[in-house]
Amino acid sequence: MGGMVKNSEHAEVFMTRAMLVFIGVTIAIGTVAAQQPRQADLVLTNGKIITVDDRFTIAQAVAISRDRIVAVGTNDEIGRLAAPNARRIDLRGRSVVPGLIDNHLHLLRAGNTWMQELRFDGVESRKKAIDMLKARAKAAGPGGWVFNIGGWAHQQFADDPRPFTLEELDQIAPDNPVALQESYYQVFLNSKALTAFGIEPGKPDPSDFIKGSIQRDASGKPTGVIKGDIAATRPVAARMPKLPADQLEASTTALVRDMNRAGLTSVGVPGCNADVLTIFQKWKTEGRSPLRIFCIGGAAAATPEAVDRSVQQIAQMKLFQGDSYIDDVFFGESVYGPLHDPMFAVKSDPKPEQLAQWRRMAMEIAKAGLPLHVHAELTTTIDAFLDQIEAVNKEHPIKNLRWTLAHINQITPPQLERMKALGMYAAVHPWAVINGAIMHEGFGEGAFDMPPLAALQASGIMWGLGTDGTAANQTLPFVTLSFAVTGKMAGGTKVIRQTVSREDALIAHTRRNAFFVFQENNLGSIQPGKLADLLVLDRDYLTTPADQIKDIRPVMTMVGGRVVYDASSSPSTK
Ligand SMILES: [Zn+2]
Repeated sequence: MGGMVKNSEHAEVFMTRAMLVFIGVTIAIGTVAAQQPRQADLVLTNGKIITVDDRFTIAQAVAISRDRIVAVGTNDEIGRLAAPNARRIDLRGRSVVPGLIDNHLHLLRAGNTWMQELRFDGVESRKKAIDMLKARAKAAGPGGWVFNIGGWAHQQFADDPRPFTLEELDQIAPDNPVALQESYYQVFLNSKALTAFGIEPGKPDPSDFIKGSIQRDASGKPTGVIKGDIAATRPVAARMPKLPADQLEASTTALVRDMNRAGLTSVGVPGCNADVLTIFQKWKTEGRSPLRIFCIGGAAAATPEAVDRSVQQIAQMKLFQGDSYIDDVFFGESVYGPLHDPMFAVKSDPKPEQLAQWRRMAMEIAKAGLPLHVHAELTTTIDAFLDQIEAVNKEHPIKNLRWTLAHINQITPPQLERMKALGMYAAVHPWAVINGAIMHEGFGEGAFDMPPLAALQASGIMWGLGTDGTAANQTLPFVTLSFAVTGKMAGGTKVIRQTVSREDALIAHTRRNAFFVFQENNLGSIQPGKLADLLVLDRDYLTTPADQIKDIRPVMTMVGGRVVYDASSSPSTK
């Protein structure tokens, strides 16, 4: 059997138990694909199927049996496969793309606040944002919090890109405390929020706030702005009202509905919160998984003593015990805390003793045969990490372990060459989609190459797109695709000069990202044998004007052959 030969070949390459589990999956799919196409219980015809296969084939129709695609072809070919009682969907010329995958989205923790947050993802009008604030304040009632935890920046308001002022927020919501967090950059509070936090004129700052982060005018009066880095914004987020435990499932449902509506069907998730993951596990048991979750986790360390403990845990860590709905796939996204570049830092200075700790961790991760997905942002940090990885690689080769540098907005072509030589991969999360203007303030001209998408594409390295949402960035994949194609941040300002074609952008958000969640045999393209995750779009991704790619929305989102979002039966709230 061909599958057996393949198996022994792979066994020499893939060294770990985790990888052996993975081979099992490969063989199972090979068997399905080798069978004659089954009768289809669902056929989609009369469309423009953008398959995103290796040849970027465009087809007319798709046949699906249970959770998998059985055939892709012409209306006639696919029509013949339909079982007598098959469900038939006439696409009426609409385009269909594979379900979009975000390879790095802090999705699960957002379940703890999503229902209460007033999100500004995709909101490009300040006037609209104000209307939303007023409506939320009214719905929350007097005293109720109106807040969000990142995912936007005021420069995305095309009509009036100004920050919010204390006086303005008091006027918009006189009876409600308001806290609006811009990415991880700053937070705008109104008077009720300042009072609630005990931030007052002539009084010392509350002790949990970072020194100097509470902005005050010359007379000592707080301006309503909390500013610094991630650490400065944290005390605000920590003080937001806690969701009652019995509402966690409803909040997670709202979160998932928004993701499905935006076109996401799979997510690589750094730090899978156990409480929210339990809900996804329950949904899976009930046969109604709306979104596939691939966790990036593990015991990061922040001190040499913690590294001692972490190396023990790394040796015990087991990945790939799950399936194509929920699995653990990477160690990450942090390795050694002191070398974790803070967002908006413009330079880094990794110290030899810190790098020695980083290398101890990396050595153990390589020795355990674990894939690694690690936060790396600035050129200096990336160089230092690559030095360590080259040393690790001499003792424990990392090829085939899919070691991935994540974010890498400031990566350079020579670094991409070093990564390719090591057999490494690039998970790209353009923070500039909402933070482009802030990055131009910090990095000047250099921000135009952050990230260097054209260089990434030209290098030939395997790279995939994600957001790093929900706080650092917005979450809508078509906004990310639009950015990659036009170089324009949310709101329309051109912030990067290195763009890619819309085909390459789509490949990076689908087929290549399937590789970044270890599901390339199951996901990422519309091909026989793969799982039926796809989107029917309201307009054609390939021909719609580039500036309108951000506005594309699915009319239908399917995960494993199940419709998880249908615009015709869902209220459109955005
Ligand atoms: Zn990160």
